Amino acid sequence: MDKKQKIGTLCVQAGYKPGKGESRQVPIVQSTTFKYETSEQMGRLFDLEDAGYFYSRLANPTVDTVAAKLAALEGGVGAQLLSCGQNANFFAIFNICEAGDHLVSAVSLYGGTFNLINWTLRKMGIDITFVDQNASEEEISAAFKPNTKLLFGETLTNPTVDVLDVEKFARIAHKHGVPLIVDNTFPTPVNLRPIEWGADIVTHSTTKYLDGHGAAVGGAIVDGGTFPWDDYADKFPGLCKPDESYHGLVYTKAFGRAAYITKVCTHLMRDFGGIQSPQNAFYLNLGLQTLHVRMPRHCDSAMKVARFLAACPDVKWVKYPGLENDAHYALAQKYMPGGTCGVMAFALKGDRAFASHFMDSLRLVTIETHVADCHTCILHPAAHTHRQLSDEQLRAAGVDPDLIRLSIGLEDADDIINDIQQALQQAKK
Ligand SMILES: *Cc1c(COP(=O)(O)O)cnc(C)c1O
Repeated sequence: MDKKQKIGTLCVQAGYKPGKGESRQVPIVQSTTFKYETSEQMGRLFDLEDAGYFYSRLANPTVDTVAAKLAALEGGVGAQLLSCGQNANFFAIFNICEAGDHLVSAVSLYGGTFNLINWTLRKMGIDITFVDQNASEEEISAAFKPNTKLLFGETLTNPTVDVLDVEKFARIAHKHGVPLIVDNTFPTPVNLRPIEWGADIVTHSTTKYLDGHGAAVGGAIVDGGTFPWDDYADKFPGLCKPDESYHGLVYTKAFGRAAYITKVCTHLMRDFGGIQSPQNAFYLNLGLQTLHVRMPRHCDSAMKVARFLAACPDVKWVKYPGLENDAHYALAQKYMPGGTCGVMAFALKGDRAFASHFMDSLRLVTIETHVADCHTCILHPAAHTHRQLSDEQLRAAGVDPDLIRLSIGLEDADDIINDIQQALQQAKK
């Protein structure tokens, strides 16, 4: 694919070029397995000596085609589609981190990712230090240890919509000889391409804007191909030393800049599964084909709603990095000049009963455990997604217990504002 093509062209066309008489839309190859002529051919595939499809737990043509589009959108050397965003973040970490290792992560995270890192990875013997992403380079650097394997953060945090200073995080990670992994779910590559700012690996919950229609759960890992693993061969033996489960294959020697992403497939997906289904990859591709058209609309409408909330006497505070007086406005202008996303956070004046009454009175905006698709939806994290966290942990993660998360969809902004207005009136009765 021509590197000079713009993001909108890549959204529509990257990854798939049909030949004469072939289907214009990406075909769904709904097949578990693939046929070969000789057992020798098959054996070479298993030894990773030849490329080819043999079993859809590891690779499938539809899934690969859509992954190639996502790799092009993020500017990476390769990508892998997974069953969901949780799966993607787990594999992205576990690919280079095992029992006895340590990682540093921003504390401001999606609730599911916080649980994964803080509880499940610890049970697997992986140690974690959480840092405030807005702290100085010196403070964040103090969290690193000799066994630290990576730095992790969300480019636009869910649900607090804080903008990550990607360049700063990349500098800190690289100074300590580890890659920066960022979850880029909220901005999408239309609004931010973290690899261009120094991130090495990008993850996604494709369930959100990339799909965009609330149709299919999915996840993805994109490898920038930027991290010099062999410079730290002792730190990353899984990539730089012989893999006994593949007859002594060394990933960095065999696959070069694509070593990391190849290992996600050939090692983690071989042993754990987790591939995205071909059908879901097809839905994801339909979403990607309009991503560049949808994102500006999400951002424009969110800006209107955020301005309305900021001026509303019933609102205690509103957090949207597109607002000029937002603490992250400058970072948003630097990293996402074309807009951030459709998600914002706000709190109402009054008690929890008032907030509940308000949410229950909405007619167009719906209460959903979801975010970032074409339907406008609302959620109270302390009562929903983050309910496993104490008020103390919520505050440590930067989530005010009063915080309401509002995700602006593709309906007309005026109708969304009218609905919020009438619900506030109802709640006051
Ligand atoms: C939703 C979300 C996830 C988890 O993705 P699933 O597809 O629900 O597993 C991870 N990170 C962020 C930022 C998310 O918004």
